[in-house]
Amino acid sequence: MSIAVVWLKRDLRLSDHAPLLEAAKTGLPILLVYCFEDMLLDDAHYSERHWRFVSQSLRDMANKLPAGALYVAKGDALAVFQALSLKYGISQVFSHQEIGLDNTFARDKAFATWCKSNQIIWHETPLGAVQRGLTHRTHWDENWQRVMRAPCLNLDLNKVNWFKNNEFECQLPHFETRFQNIQGQFQNGGESEAFNVLNDFFTARGKEYAFTLSSPSLSQIHCSRLSPYLAWGNISLRQVYQTVLSHWQVPGWRRSLVAFTSRLHWHCHFIQKFESECEMEFRHVNKGYDDLPRVTGELAEQRLHAWKTGQTGIPMVDACMRCLIETGYINFRMRAMLVSFLCHHLELDWRAGVAHLASLFLDFEPGIHYSQFQMQAGVTGINTIRIYSPVKQGEEKDEKGVFVRKWVPELCEVPAPLIHSPWQLSQMEQMMYGFTLGEDYPEPIVDVKQSYKDAQALLWLWRKKPKVVIESKRLLYRHVRPN
Ligand SMILES: Cc1cc2nc3c(=O)[nH]c(=O)nc-3n(C[C@H](O)[C@H](O)[C@H](O)COP(=O)(O)OP(=O)(O)OC[C@H]3O[C@@H](n4cnc5c(N)ncnc54)[C@H](O)[C@@H]3O)c2cc1C
Repeated sequence: MSIAVVWLKRDLRLSDHAPLLEAAKTGLPILLVYCFEDMLLDDAHYSERHWRFVSQSLRDMANKLPAGALYVAKGDALAVFQALSLKYGISQVFSHQEIGLDNTFARDKAFATWCKSNQIIWHETPLGAVQRGLTHRTHWDENWQRVMRAPCLNLDLNKVNWFKNNEFECQLPHFETRFQNIQGQFQNGGESEAFNVLNDFFTARGKEYAFTLSSPSLSQIHCSRLSPYLAWGNISLRQVYQTVLSHWQVPGWRRSLVAFTSRLHWHCHFIQKFESECEMEFRHVNKGYDDLPRVTGELAEQRLHAWKTGQTGIPMVDACMRCLIETGYINFRMRAMLVSFLCHHLELDWRAGVAHLASLFLDFEPGIHYSQFQMQAGVTGINTIRIYSPVKQGEEKDEKGVFVRKWVPELCEVPAPLIHSPWQLSQMEQMMYGFTLGEDYPEPIVDVKQSYKDAQALLWLWRKKPKVVIESKRLLYRHVRPN
């Protein structure tokens, strides 16, 4: 017997799935394979919340497939494929291109070599509108439109020649049990759930999108909340974009749909940056920032620990971090503020916090994450320097203190706007509002006004350095779309 394998990675769905469609066309028995790989289970960017989401997504797929068509294995992909190949004879493998971390890239290179030496054909399909090996952005937008407007690649699952031999031990129940009890209020994974969230957004939640997306509490309702489903491929960007187009004429929605569509473009735009310059996982995208002075040693450790645990004494920062720990989600503006606080106010190297936030974001998407992180850390040299004042963000985006009160209950009696700068309260006022600074809630880890000023001065000075300027020109050519 010879079979065709669809190798599932971060594309955990059965609709608009090019590799599945192409595999079905071969007429060979089709086996879907997902590997829980040790190198990813052990990787600092991931945490149990991700694997719970993945196992839920796989269960959703399994429920729509005949028994034996989905094989969930634990082990390195190469070893799993080697065993399958010996037993069943694989003639072709179909997958999406993975725009992942360095470890998955290395695994893919080894896999390509293995396929070649075993006369197995490996077909890789581009991920959305991201183009592999691109060195500039000319015509990039036209390609995005072409891909997103093309018909979705669906097929009738009943007509597929599924692999029916259920001899192997499917590890899915094991992973469901292993990850089902993790604590927190996370979104559930799966293609079915992705469409529920999509429909719910377009039925009601999304109408206020444009007006609420920067508010940490309102964004939880009015933003699409599609990010984990897009990141793990429970839904394709094309399916989302085509839903936008079908709602384009609905009265009262236009402003929100325009804002939402920009973000769908950004999704691929940022992943493309990472694809074109994947070294940014390890180094500054603009090498001119390699010597930027940063705090190190014990002070750095203390600051990092306070940031990671939501104990900095700056309410907006702590509320965001605690919300992330518990729910895996925070909106864009607050993610930017967390990075800004880490790099500008605490003066830490962005690499100190990048994997930690990834492990908390349920929607961790390597390309968006690394590109955005470096941009917010102010080390690209081509983006506007933006340093967020966490106090101002609180006063503007959490005017009544609702968000801070929820996640920093130590301060729940303090009225807004005072809740955003509790260190300004006298001892008498602290007593009145039921807390003591330094006991119930930490003293601020830095003087945010001073750290803001220092960071401004440093970053503007650095931007003029010849090495930064030369690198900026290179980056503009490579990553920015010509007008
Ligand atoms: C430091 C930092 C790290 C980030 N890391 C990630 C990440 O790992 N994964 C991730 O999906 N997003 C990341 N983002 C982008 C953004 O914050 C999230 O996509 C968004 O908050 C997800 O919520 P939503 O689905 O409700 O978004 P919506 O506002 O409803 O947007 C819809 C979709 O558009 C895309 N999108 C939205 N904003 C952006 C953006 N600024 N850049 C690129 N794509 C965007 C996402 O796929 C999102 O799901 C990061 C932002 C920052 C500042």
